[in-house]
Amino acid sequence: MAEIVIRNLRKEFGAFTAVQSSSFTIEDGEFFMLLGPSGCGKTTTLRMIAGLELPTSGEITIDGEDVSQRPASQRDIAFVFQMFALYPHMNVRKNISYPLISQGMPGAEVKKKVAEVASILGITDILDRPVGGLSGGDRQRVALGRAIVRNPKAFMMDEPLGALDAEFREHMAEELRALHDRMHATTVYVTHDQLEAMQMGDKIVVMNHGVIEQFGTPQAIYDKPATMFVAEFIGSPPMNFLRFKGKVADGATAVELGGEPIMVPRQRQGSEGDLVLGVRPEHVILSDEGAYRGEVLATEYLGTTQIVTLMTLNGELKARVPSDQVIHAGERVGLGFNARTLTLFDAASGRALV
Ligand code: ATP
Repeated sequence: MAEIVIRNLRKEFGAFTAVQSSSFTIEDGEFFMLLGPSGCGKTTTLRMIAGLELPTSGEITIDGEDVSQRPASQRDIAFVFQMFALYPHMNVRKNISYPLISQGMPGAEVKKKVAEVASILGITDILDRPVGGLSGGDRQRVALGRAIVRNPKAFMMDEPLGALDAEFREHMAEELRALHDRMHATTVYVTHDQLEAMQMGDKIVVMNHGVIEQFGTPQAIYDKPATMFVAEFIGSPPMNFLRFKGKVADGATAVELGGEPIMVPRQRQGSEGDLVLGVRPEHVILSDEGAYRGEVLATEYLGTTQIVTLMTLNGELKARVPSDQVIHAGERVGLGFNARTLTLFDAASGRALV
């Protein structure tokens, strides 16, 4: 069990800064996601927490103890690189018991621990099988077993499901999350897949170019993106951005779109100039009415919903509406928004006006 606190953590490789002064707290027992595009610094952050990379500056504490300069072997953290990394010449039992035997644990105790872990993972009946002939799922379970059996303070996982095909990946993601819900071990998980992060994470840190863009629960990140980067990175299709010139004067200011005032809550006073109204596709309402209109460019059928692409005075916009709503390309339709769900951004900084 471990609470991990990161304070002003920074990593430079020569003149290049991979991670800029990051601060966040991973609470005890949390399933914590480091999310962002390739090269944003998430693996470097994970490696610093595990002790595989030492920070240039900043502090990492585990349960209140400063471990920033300690080697990995003294942090009691299990690193699950790639779940397929098993010892191919050993059977399942030997693969799982290896970390315990190398610690010098007596045979009877090893046997008991391995039996416990095998039962948690549902692999008791394959303990004596060679790992070579196992299915992908069983290999993943064995690799996890080897990490769990040491009973470490926390688990670090770097894109553990990255090599799997979509369907199997989803299944293993569910299994991992269920395992976590049973064990409640602090887990830090790196992914570039926003859906995986949203589905599995208790909390998410979204990184971009070595900077933390936002830190929070999946819902907070989806509903109240702090930046345009986060708003675009999370959600599929991503949040729409309607660009306009305007002035935000007071608590709930009206944004004029096509002569129709739209009330936008949560905004800072006095912002003026190039603004961006952020609207999730599922919060666009298409109807016959309304002064603010758009021309339907295309529709894409997705089963229960459809994605409608429209051209508006403020640029292109995508709406997710029920697929039984009859809409044709070329038509002009009225656009309505659920004001409660809108986010207003400053175009220059890309930051939400809150
Ligand atoms: P990916 O998903 O592609 O692994 P990432 O978000 O995990 O991306 P990192 O692996 O943390 O990104 O790398 C962040 C940046 O730091 C990259 O530009 C990378 O090239 C650079 N970097 C990482 N390790 C080193 C190193 N040992 N020496 C120099 N540069 C490095």
